[in-house]
Amino acid sequence: MKASIITVGDEILIGQITDTNSAWLAAQLNLLGVQIRKMISVGDEAASIYSALEECMSQDVLVVMTGGLGPTKDDITKKVIADFLGLQMSFSQESWTHIQQFFRQLGRTATEAHYNQCFMPEGVRLLDNKMGTAPGMWFEKGNAILVSLPGVPYEMKSITANQLLPRLQHTLHTPVIEHRTLLTVGMGESLIAEKLAAFEDSLPNNIKLAYLPNLARVRLRLSAVGEDRQMLRQELEKKVEDIRQLLGDLVYGEGEEELAQKVGEMLKDRKITLATAESCTGGYVSHLITGIAGSSDYYHGSIITYSNELKMKLLGVKKETLDEFGAVSEQTVKEMVTGLLQAIPVGIGISVSGIAGPGGGSAEKPVGTIWMAISDGKIIQTQKLSLGKDRLINIKYAGIHAVNMIRKFLLAQ
Ligand code: ATP
Repeated sequence: MKASIITVGDEILIGQITDTNSAWLAAQLNLLGVQIRKMISVGDEAASIYSALEECMSQDVLVVMTGGLGPTKDDITKKVIADFLGLQMSFSQESWTHIQQFFRQLGRTATEAHYNQCFMPEGVRLLDNKMGTAPGMWFEKGNAILVSLPGVPYEMKSITANQLLPRLQHTLHTPVIEHRTLLTVGMGESLIAEKLAAFEDSLPNNIKLAYLPNLARVRLRLSAVGEDRQMLRQELEKKVEDIRQLLGDLVYGEGEEELAQKVGEMLKDRKITLATAESCTGGYVSHLITGIAGSSDYYHGSIITYSNELKMKLLGVKKETLDEFGAVSEQTVKEMVTGLLQAIPVGIGISVSGIAGPGGGSAEKPVGTIWMAISDGKIIQTQKLSLGKDRLINIKYAGIHAVNMIRKFLLAQ
């Protein structure tokens, strides 16, 4: 079966970004026995998108597009698709409900732009987007299938892996395919890829490894294609073991497991209680931990000391420490965690203090400098993160790293 890929975006044509979406999609589709005939990149311009669609849809059974779906691009891809297929635009309640839920989880509300984003070509079948607001779209015209996905790589990958490939398999009666997904935390995609380079090279043709990165975590998805499901499962089991050997404790779980859920299980099994002292994360670590049902079994609470005054008053951090080393320092987070364990007597305490940004940095302590300390009352371990400039991303990264620090502390015990 023949397919083509169309990527939409001015940034691709001016060389601002590299079109990695096409390569990734091609590898995934090849695995299903779908051959890519052509890859085309066009700008955010209706006429170019239309003529690319005309060319590909007249020759291929499957056309996959990425880009131009979100609220920032005036929904150009959708309008051109509607025009090309002769469909009216109509409001999708399904998409609006998803967007509202998505923002509720982030503690934010959807904007008018997001509402307008829910106007879709009539009769579309939506492909659920767990990572963002714009769903993928599936259309059929005669014998041909047209799929449009968001441009953001991790959203595109997530929809492809979870929605598009299973649906294509079902529709096209492709060979049996089996997946296993390993979950890693604490190392970026490219460093993990280096560790797995030889392993990847040694994989047989019917097994592929895909990297699905998200904040501070990378999901490693092994896919095997063949005729016999039982044999594929055995083959994958062996490969999963190989990856576990190579990555050690970078792997925290499998499938859909949340990091905080894993840590919760470890605390519960060991009958250890936990409390947190947070500054720059403002309760985000607590939010991650309490997002897990049953967390009251092991989690006692948090002391959020955003100001220096509260760090001294509630956690007993010394004024001299703050004056000499600053609130974002190893010394301060050590005193924070010690004070925390005195205020809330639990098995393990963790403290976080950093410069989330965008302001407040210095040459010595740039934005994104975050210190953490963990202690069981006997041992204190500290860790410094050097993150980027984006405030919310820094807070989320720090939160995930803190939860991972608890996991590692427990593993070492
Ligand atoms: P939104 O409008 O919500 O940003 P979208 O679905 O319209 O999302 P684009 O605006 O086209 O997607 O792209 C968003 C970002 O995703 C780009 O700025 C770029 O960083 C990345 N991206 C888009 N297309 C590609 C591509 N083909 N390969 C790699 N990265 C891409």
